[in-house]
Amino acid sequence: MFKEITVITKRRNELRDITEEIRAIITESEIDNGVCHIFVPHTTAAVTINEKADPDVAVDISRTLEKIVPAGWEYRHAEGNSDSHVKSSSVGVSEFVLIKDGGLVLGTWQSVFFCEFDGPRTRKCIVRVSE
Ligand code: ZN
Repeated sequence: MFKEITVITKRRNELRDITEEIRAIITESEIDNGVCHIFVPHTTAAVTINEKADPDVAVDISRTLEKIVPAGWEYRHAEGNSDSHVKSSSVGVSEFVLIKDGGLVLGTWQSVFFCEFDGPRTRKCIVRVSE
């Protein structure tokens, strides 16, 4: 089972919860026990797992990355978005979550977030579910 999620971002830096879209793909796959791989095929975006219960956590992650990888530093890349590339590589473009009894094995407070670092854009996120 191989599916694509479309993520339309609205800001340059933004973390978007995509857990429900992933759950829908797992339900559609009818795989009860296995693994779900999530891959972001972009060089200025990423994927991470962190807390959703307090939405300020995602905002803090985004703001901290902006602080430690500032947009205006002395980068060489002529496109002008080196900070976005550095954030993408720092966070990483893939995650996996185990599937048990048809559901994602996530901690109580965990959600899967698509991380935009060079928005707004229309993005893709690839999800593969296997036994
Ligand atoms: Zn670039």
